[in-house]
Amino acid sequence: MIVNNSLDEVKKRESALKIIREIINDGGRDSLYDVTGLSGGFIASEQELNLLETYVGPAIFEDELQIAGKEHLGGEKVLAVNRTSSGILASILALAEKGTHVSHFLAEFPAHPSIPRSCKIVGASYDEFIDIEKFNIPDNTSLVVVTGSTMDHKVIAENLFKEVIDMAHERDIPVLVDDASGARLRTAVFNQRKATELGADLVVTSTDKLMPGPRGGLMSGRADLIDEVKIKANQFGLEAQPPLILAMVNGIRNYTEENLVNAISRKDEFYSLLREKYDMFEKTPTGVRVSEESIKNQLDILNIETELSQKDCCFLWAMILLKDFGIITIPAVGMPGASASIRFDLSAPDVIDMDINRLYEMVDSSIEEFFNLCQDVEKSKNLIFY
Ligand SMILES: *Cc1c(COP(=O)(O)O)cnc(C)c1O
Repeated sequence: MIVNNSLDEVKKRESALKIIREIINDGGRDSLYDVTGLSGGFIASEQELNLLETYVGPAIFEDELQIAGKEHLGGEKVLAVNRTSSGILASILALAEKGTHVSHFLAEFPAHPSIPRSCKIVGASYDEFIDIEKFNIPDNTSLVVVTGSTMDHKVIAENLFKEVIDMAHERDIPVLVDDASGARLRTAVFNQRKATELGADLVVTSTDKLMPGPRGGLMSGRADLIDEVKIKANQFGLEAQPPLILAMVNGIRNYTEENLVNAISRKDEFYSLLREKYDMFEKTPTGVRVSEESIKNQLDILNIETELSQKDCCFLWAMILLKDFGIITIPAVGMPGASASIRFDLSAPDVIDMDINRLYEMVDSSIEEFFNLCQDVEKSKNLIFY
């Protein structure tokens, strides 16, 4: 095992950032292909940046965010937080007291770690379900959480979404929706309604997922609950600062469903190419992915022996993709606890116009390289901790 804990994951991330720096220094930004679907963009005009230096700026951007944010998420009141995880923590701090319970429904494991971690901090018990028959809301429940689209882009069925919300509301329990990517994926690709339209009391989305915004968390929902969450966010410094709010407003204004819709047909083409040679790929709404389990199965099928764990395999392949092909995937650069599955998002701006055959050839070569390297633990280690 190479990557065993959060510290190893932090070191792995530092290696990836170092490789990115080297690639940028050698060949410039155009040598990198970010297929994470997380853009981290920062759109701002000179005039807007100048406003940031005065006290006027925050007043203006926060007001504009109320308008843009409500259009994007619905709801009565909007709150900007530093990250989606910050919004989840602030909500759980505000709504789930010690000794109460939090029930979470999602389409597929794993859930985002910020949800159980936040429950642990407040001393609330926590349970998560992917089977609606098993989903339950014990008597001491203070909050129900629904994930609209998981980290791996598994989208909840709208009827189940509604069912969970109704179950919670029958018992007067508020519902928080983790719609990090779902706020766009569900609506643009699956024609689902906004979480607030489905009755969610609070929703949080990530402003850099599948939209040209900065990494940040945008919340909306019932005004009384948003106020409570806002108090906690301010008390613990979880709120977004004015520069982030400015870029969030422009990210929302520049978001279109077009890239997401275009990616749907391209992913079918990409998938068929990969499928001819490999068993490990599966489709996502806007691309393809390989899970930890299927990468290991693929090695078994080919009788390739490795001492690496499933997770290590994902990390190793992600580092090969990055170092030798400039392809950025989440396992290389992700925060500790992020999903280790390798996802290629074809709606990402860097590949939206790229020839699919060219992308296939790069990915194919990276896999061949991975098959070789994973048999040598020392060499694998040297790349992961580059
Ligand atoms: C990305 C994601 C988060 C966390 O977003 P951060 O910006 O890393 O805080 C939470 N939940 C889901 C489902 C996600 O996909």
